[in-house]
Amino acid sequence: MTEVLTVSNNGHGAGDTLAVHAIAVTRTYSAGGKPVQALRGVNLEVPRGTLTALMGRSGSGKTTLLNIIGGLDRPTSGEVLVDGEKFSRLSDRALADFRRHRLGFVFQSFALLPTYSAYENVELPLRMIGVGRKERGQRVRFWLETVGLADWASHRPYELSGGQQQRLAIARALVNRPHLVLADEPTGELDTTTGRQILALFKEIVEREGVTILIATHDPKVREVATVVHQLRDGQIVVNEAERAPAQ
Ligand code: ADP
Ligand code: MG
Repeated sequence: MTEVLTVSNNGHGAGDTLAVHAIAVTRTYSAGGKPVQALRGVNLEVPRGTLTALMGRSGSGKTTLLNIIGGLDRPTSGEVLVDGEKFSRLSDRALADFRRHRLGFVFQSFALLPTYSAYENVELPLRMIGVGRKERGQRVRFWLETVGLADWASHRPYELSGGQQQRLAIARALVNRPHLVLADEPTGELDTTTGRQILALFKEIVEREGVTILIATHDPKVREVATVVHQLRDGQIVVNEAERAPAQ
């Protein structure tokens, strides 16, 4: 795989400047013999270094699209490129490898390992890609510090509040230095104030680290932090220039 990045966000046209490029993506599920068209030809360009939001009501296709962009699912037709890498050309195994090295995931339900300490939860993705102990320690401490959990390293997830658990999940998602982080309803289980803090943390991380974060949510607070907001409706992106925040 090629080492990319340090590419400035100076245009939407060229594929190699995009963190995500989805082209005519469809996904049809068969539910009880009846086809359900979850995505009906989605075109999406996510420039690097942005906090991009995918909004839309429940059932509009947000999770389906995020799973395809995250290589957790394959489209029925169409193409997805992440960091210029064509997913259709990767075997399932290569795609899993790509996920471990280049992507980070944040979920509504945090998905932390309950018997692991905060430290061990953040460390796990680094163990999975074979990062040595010393570097693991440095990176885990950096990220626990960044999300404000330096004093909680030895605690188990159940000893943390919901907001702290999501901070921990964010540290875990960032620790492998992903180029792209995908967050599915990351504020879904949090109260308004805590949700706002989590969104502010995403924004801070985008600004400090230059990473790209794509958030799928129906939480309107995301508009306060997003560089760009895309609307999904019935499996299609509704083109609406008025939704776009002014250029940074
Ligand atoms: P959102 O995340 O915006 O709520 P989803 O991507 O979860 O939307 O769902 C989009 C559509 O696809 C919905 O109609 C949903 O019922 C359907 N769907 C999602 N996952 C499956 C599945 N595994 N099998 C069948 N239908 C599904
Ligand atoms: Mg969803």
